[in-house]
Amino acid sequence: MSIDIRRLLRWMLIAVPIAAAPSLAAQSPEPTVHAPPAWCAKLPRPQYARLERVSVASSWFEVYRVDPNVYAIYEPRQWQEVISYLIVGSDRALLFDTGMGMSDIHAVVSALTDRPIVVLNSHTHVDHVGGNHDFAQILSLDLPYTRGHARGMAHADVASEVAPDAFCAPVAGLDTAAYAIRPWRITGTVHDGSVVDLGGRSLEVVRVPGHAPDAIALRDVAHGLLFTGDTFYEGPIYVLGPGSDFAAYTRSVARLAALAPRPRKLLTAHNIAVSDPSFLAALRDATRAIASGTVEGTQTMRSSRSRSTASRLSFRRIGVGFARSRRRTDLGTRAR
Ligand SMILES: [Zn+2]
Repeated sequence: MSIDIRRLLRWMLIAVPIAAAPSLAAQSPEPTVHAPPAWCAKLPRPQYARLERVSVASSWFEVYRVDPNVYAIYEPRQWQEVISYLIVGSDRALLFDTGMGMSDIHAVVSALTDRPIVVLNSHTHVDHVGGNHDFAQILSLDLPYTRGHARGMAHADVASEVAPDAFCAPVAGLDTAAYAIRPWRITGTVHDGSVVDLGGRSLEVVRVPGHAPDAIALRDVAHGLLFTGDTFYEGPIYVLGPGSDFAAYTRSVARLAALAPRPRKLLTAHNIAVSDPSFLAALRDATRAIASGTVEGTQTMRSSRSRSTASRLSFRRIGVGFARSRRRTDLGTRAR
């Protein structure tokens, strides 16, 4: 996810306490200390207590062994709570996303495996490509959208990711004023159906456009794993803004829900690493309900980046919030 909506919503949530306490701040001789933003109250997420934590020399990343030779690399100190995955074969390892680029993910994965590492991104939004520049081997879809992002992202385009309310606590050693996404070099291409052989483990690329034009999922059929990227995770899913396509998203979700054999585990890119595959059918039904106009949003908000109004739809049965642009009436949906 790279849309400003979540940050916007967070500002809405914290605006009242900030506005109500100006006199207190004026009286205090102490430096301003920001209260943790509202999203921090969810941390630590209880689901992580059930996973096997792997000790790494990092105060930024938390690493969990989520299946044999599969590691979730979680960044809980920044509001995206993004999760990258290291999948280790006998010959080489694949790093599915490289996170925010706010700490050294190369050092972390090098401590987890001595195999050569190849990077593949679930898509090229800011929160998944931050460490790409540190890797020599990067596979990619052959798309103008992806090649454009590989040229890097300027500080002004990613500054919201280092705003004070993007963190639960001050982060030592991060130069927020200099934060930007460095360019990276694409060294090989993949397409829908490509199989990446890691030695004793094969990963199949499944194109799932919708959240982003270059979104992919990774499928490990033999081990029953599906790495979903941002096409599914437990939390509000964003299908609005530049490059998003709700009709394509609906088709992509239906495709993942129909995969046979059904995966044992979903390994997702935000918030919670391991999710139940039954979510996919529920999400498919939810997207179809949106497309047929039988579900209405529960609140609206403005996105400064996409200049569109979104309906955030809460599907309480499956615990997934969903946002879509109300301007996308060309997608067979009825604008409300
Ligand atoms: Zn994301």
